[in-house]
Amino acid sequence: MAVKIEDYYRPEIFGKIKHFADDKETPFLVVDTSLIAQSYDELTGFFPSSKIYYAVKANPAPEILSLLRDRGSNFDIASRYELDKVMSFGVSADRVSYGNTIKKSADIRYFFEKGVRMFATDSEADLRNIAQAAPGSKVYVRILTEGNLTADWPLSRKFGCQPDMAMDLMIMARDLGLIPYGVSFHVGSQQREIGAWDAAIAKVKVIFERLKEEDGIELKMINMGGGFPARYISKTNNLETYASEIRRFLEEDFGDNMPEIILEPGRSLIGNSGVLVSEVVLISRKTRTALNRWVYTDVGKFSGLIETLDESIKYPVYTEKKGEMEDCIIAGPTCDSADIMYENYKYPLPLNLAIGDRLYWFSTGAYTTTYSAIEFNGFPPLKSYYL
Ligand SMILES: *Cc1c(COP(=O)(O)O)cnc(C)c1O
Repeated sequence: MAVKIEDYYRPEIFGKIKHFADDKETPFLVVDTSLIAQSYDELTGFFPSSKIYYAVKANPAPEILSLLRDRGSNFDIASRYELDKVMSFGVSADRVSYGNTIKKSADIRYFFEKGVRMFATDSEADLRNIAQAAPGSKVYVRILTEGNLTADWPLSRKFGCQPDMAMDLMIMARDLGLIPYGVSFHVGSQQREIGAWDAAIAKVKVIFERLKEEDGIELKMINMGGGFPARYISKTNNLETYASEIRRFLEEDFGDNMPEIILEPGRSLIGNSGVLVSEVVLISRKTRTALNRWVYTDVGKFSGLIETLDESIKYPVYTEKKGEMEDCIIAGPTCDSADIMYENYKYPLPLNLAIGDRLYWFSTGAYTTTYSAIEFNGFPPLKSYYL
């Protein structure tokens, strides 16, 4: 089925983006920051008493950081470079959490000296480093979740530990002079199954209860990570449905003793705000009778579309050409045969699509610019503009 603008953008918004893009050389990303402001307000409306920590890795553009700073967001940060960048926009250290469980002792020290007092952990060695390099800080422990099968971009296996170990770590945190503060999880990015939060919250509840009853440790916070969806080809529920279900899960498990809730949105906040504008470089058939055309574009896996790995994220690809459609294979411009975005999943594109036509990749505001290679085959990094 052809991708329709109205399923993703209000026509006037797309019109504005397209007008801005018309006289510029492709490829590039255009982000409409008003859409980010809108998603931020929507999310805080759905979760009025939660704190937002924007996952900076999704898109660290200055325009986005300053917009979210002004709206009162906090920031989930994974490296000292992200920290420097965010703080250079006047964000104070008490609005930052060091959410990466994989970090050098020297980096923990760096964050501590800058004033950061909130750290994620999922292992004993890391916890001991935190106790030494960031004494007295708040620590929260990340648990493993089982949402991998239903998330389009799973994050879980590499991070987190089993609940038993999480409890051991919180006890150890107390004994090392840290503040055992809470539990975090990430159900997997672009998580299509809302039940994934239910299962994770249930695990957190057990950890809260057992630590309190058996060890006298009262945790204060649940960090629910990211995982909310952006709008791609594969349908999801809308954010309102996610929010009301998740609030219900929390209510059922925690009721009157609701801990502080942290959300770390990346994709859902930024994804839809961006349109990647590309051009068709070449169209070919591999035999005279081949049923599928290959459509090569000037953007590919190495210039921002790495999340098409295993065809995980299926971006809506829009063209102004109309008419009879044919399934296509879509590939990038580089001399690497991994640079094929969609081959198993055949994208229908109109038969009259021609070399030089523009293709608009919707919902590409998150996880594109920063993933772009700096010089593969000499192609420059993906340009981006912020309206
Ligand atoms: C990447 C990441 C996020 C953001 O996840 P999305 O699915 O993009 O919202 C949140 N928290 C942590 C710890 C992350 O690593």
